[in-house]
Amino acid sequence: MTAEAGIWALVPAAGSGTRMQAGMPKQYLPLRGRPILLHTLERLCSFPRLRGVLVGLAAADSHWRSLDVTPLSKLAGTFDGGSSRAQTVLNGLQALATRAGDDDWIMVHDAVRPCVRHSDLAKLVAATANHADGALLALPLIDTLKRTDATGGITGTIPRTALWRALTPQMFRVGQLRQALSAALMRGEEITDESAAIECAGGRPLVVEGRPDNIKITLPADLALAELYLKQQLEEGA
Ligand code: C5P
Repeated sequence: MTAEAGIWALVPAAGSGTRMQAGMPKQYLPLRGRPILLHTLERLCSFPRLRGVLVGLAAADSHWRSLDVTPLSKLAGTFDGGSSRAQTVLNGLQALATRAGDDDWIMVHDAVRPCVRHSDLAKLVAATANHADGALLALPLIDTLKRTDATGGITGTIPRTALWRALTPQMFRVGQLRQALSAALMRGEEITDESAAIECAGGRPLVVEGRPDNIKITLPADLALAELYLKQQLEEGA
C-alpha cells in the first residue's frame, strides 16, 4: 500500500514590490490592521489538507521577525529567497527536500493574494487528482486585448477566446516542479509563474476557474479592494 501524497504550500515573499511605492515590501503593508502576509499565511495554514507552509524571505528582510506567527501551527519554516520569483520557489523546493518526496504536491501561492478562498483551494486539489501535470487557478479573460506599438497605436486585436489570466495557487508534483524550474533557469528562460516552467518542460497543466476576489495586491488601489473582499468574505462566513 502506498501512502497518500502530502500537500505542502510554498509562499514566495522575497519581492520588493516597487510598483506599490510604499517604502516597504507590499506583503507587509497593513490590511484590516495586520500585514498582508499574515492574512495569506492564515488562509493557507487553516486549510485542513495542507501538511505545512514554507515562506521565502529576502536576505534584507527586516519585517518578518516583528510578525506574530505563533498561531500559525502549520508554518514549517522560512528559507532564503532568490533573485527572481522562480529562483525563490526553487530554493523553497530544495529547503523542503528532507520532508517531502518527489511525488508529494506543492501549492505555490503569492504572498500578496490574501483573499484566496478555501473553496478554491479545494477545487484545485480536486483537479490535480486526475491530472498528472498539475493545475492552477485562473480566470477567463473578459476584456478585449489590444497589441500596441511604442507610441500606443493599436497594431492588433487578440481574440480572447481560450485566453486565461493565471492566478495562484499553482499546484504541481514536488519533483516535477523542481526539475522544470532548474532546467528553465539554467536555460535563462524568463519564468513568471510555475506553470510556465512546467510548460517549457513539455507539461500541460490544467486551468481551474477561480474566484475573481483572489486578487494580487500590486497597486495602492488594490488594498482598498482587498479590504472590501475580506469584509464580504467574513460576512458570508467564507
Ligand atoms: O513581482 P511579483 O508581483 O510578480 O511577485 C510575485 C510574488 O513573488 C510575490 O509574492 C513576491 O514577493 C515573490 N517574489 C519572490 N522573490 C523574488 C521576486 C518576487 O519571492 N525575487
